[in-house]
Amino acid sequence: MSAFLVSHRHINTIAAYAEQWITRHNSGRFGELLAHVGTAQQLATQLYGANVDSVCHRYKDEPSADIGLGPIVYRRPARIPGPVEIIKAIHCLEYQSCETDTWESSPAYRNLQKIAGWASRELPGYATAPWAIYDPSPETADRVCPSCSGLRPQPAGPCANCGAPPPAPQGPPAGPADGGELPTITF
Ligand SMILES: [Zn+2]
Repeated sequence: MSAFLVSHRHINTIAAYAEQWITRHNSGRFGELLAHVGTAQQLATQLYGANVDSVCHRYKDEPSADIGLGPIVYRRPARIPGPVEIIKAIHCLEYQSCETDTWESSPAYRNLQKIAGWASRELPGYATAPWAIYDPSPETADRVCPSCSGLRPQPAGPCANCGAPPPAPQGPPAGPADGGELPTITF
C-alpha cells in the first residue's frame, strides 16, 4: 500500500462538516460526540497527526517526523460539500492513515467512522427510506407497504417511504383474533 499526506484543506473540510453536523444536531457539544476532541481545531490536529504518522510509518519507519506542512490551522472552508463528497474524502483519508499498527484502535479512526455515519444519514433517499423492514403478517397487512416492507404512516394513500400505491382493498384480515387460520404466504 502507498500513502500520501492530504492537504490541510482536505482535513479542514472534513472537520468543518463535523462541526456543521454537531451544530445542527447537538447544539455544538463537540466533545460529547467525538473521541478526545472538543473543537474543530482539535479534530483537524488529530486527523492530520494520524495522516503524518501513517506516511512516516510507511516511508521512514519512524513513528513521527517533520514531513508535514507545519501545524494545521483550522479554517472553515467557504463551501462545505454534501455527504457523498465527505464520505469519499473520509475514505481517502482513511486509506492514507492506515499504515500504523494501531490505526483501527485510534481515536482518529473512531472519529472518521462516526463522521462518515453522520454523512450517510444525509444521503439522498435516506430520509424517506423505511426505518424498519417488516415481515408480512396479518397484524401488519394494512400497515406494511408491499413494495418496500416499511411501515406506512397511513393505511390510505401512497407509501411515504417509496411512493408505492396503497394495496387494493381486501376483506377483513384473517388472523388468530378471528379464530381463523394464518394465511399461507409464498415468496
Ligand atoms: Zn413503500
